[in-house]
Amino acid sequence: MGANQEAGMRTKAVHAGEKPDPITRASAPNLVMSTTFTAEAGASFSVEGLEADAPYYYTRWGNPTVRQLEQKLMALEGAEACVAFGSGMAAVNSLFFYHLSTDDHLVISDVSYAATAELTNDILPRMGIRISKVNMSDLDEVKRAVTSETKLVYAETPCNPILRLTDIRAVGDIAHTAGAKLAVDSTFATPIATKPLRLGADYVVHSLTKYLCGHGDAVGGALLGRAEDMEPLRQKVAIRTGGILSPFNAWLIMRGIATLPLRMSAHEAGAQCVAEFLEGNTSVKKVIYPGLPSHPQYDLAKEQMKNFSGMITFQVEDGSRAAGILEERLKIFHYAVSLGHHRSLIFYLPTQALFESSFKLSAGQQQSFREFAGEGIFRISVGLEDPEDLCRDLDQGLSGLI
Ligand SMILES: *Cc1c(COP(=O)(O)O)cnc(C)c1O
Repeated sequence: MGANQEAGMRTKAVHAGEKPDPITRASAPNLVMSTTFTAEAGASFSVEGLEADAPYYYTRWGNPTVRQLEQKLMALEGAEACVAFGSGMAAVNSLFFYHLSTDDHLVISDVSYAATAELTNDILPRMGIRISKVNMSDLDEVKRAVTSETKLVYAETPCNPILRLTDIRAVGDIAHTAGAKLAVDSTFATPIATKPLRLGADYVVHSLTKYLCGHGDAVGGALLGRAEDMEPLRQKVAIRTGGILSPFNAWLIMRGIATLPLRMSAHEAGAQCVAEFLEGNTSVKKVIYPGLPSHPQYDLAKEQMKNFSGMITFQVEDGSRAAGILEERLKIFHYAVSLGHHRSLIFYLPTQALFESSFKLSAGQQQSFREFAGEGIFRISVGLEDPEDLCRDLDQGLSGLI
């Protein structure tokens, strides 16, 4: 590799952030569980003024194993800085806490991860933060909502659970023209599909619990962005609010990331196969997958996603009844929430219940949601099993349904 040539994603996924331990020469990264590190006399007892390259003192302030994971994520996203958190939601919360104060205006997608939606419905208004919810796929609607008072625009693409996309570059331009910053939750895309910072976003949010960990056995989150934002965010918010990642989970997630590029290729190939199977099944009314030409934003998907990822939604007549049947009949799929694991998962989300528990949309927004996603959503996370086996399992599950 030439001196100026950047390593590929597979090389970065394996090596970035890690090197053999200088003392033991261990090839795999050490797991450092120590909560405390011996300090020199005169070291400060407060995190105030802590330098980015300060030695390790206390694991809530910084930990070598967590730091290795942060560096691996920085390499994959092409980010200057990263802070890891105990969950995706701890990352979302810390971003809002850092960036928004009383009277600030937040523009957020009207459809996003349920806990993010609930946070912006229930907690942020209590802190005096003003919120506008918009359809982030409609640039005119975004333009109308973003004003000179807007501090942050928050998008999620593809969005959970309906797989609607946001044009990151275009929304970034709108935000920046108004003097606001853009944050993108890229959990469904992963850095293999999309690098939001390169498209103009100021922050990237990840639930590491999903594809990055990849094995359904560690909860974690991360925020990435410019050093000038992330260092104060770490010092003023993350360390003090305390939602830090356990070194053990960092170690597991790092091990998962080593195979991320390979897994994403297999997730995508499997999902394409399952999506095409579903589109041809007579019980299925609608399928949404960014890799299908029938996705309303297929052109944007091709432009913005190098990998269409492994998430599919589909609809059948009387979804609640079908959910009971599928839960009982499916042999390979686990009927379960979450996503991005090696095991395939399926879960049913009834539209009206979702509106009431999480989204709290206006009548117009509900209508636009239903126009895009229909009524009642089966969400599939296609795992790493043989796609033919998954299709056969769905085929027997759906047989005779209608
Ligand atoms: C799961 C998820 C989150 C929250 O992550 P946790 O690790 O469960 O806290 C945020 N955004 C998206 C898109 C998710 O799928």
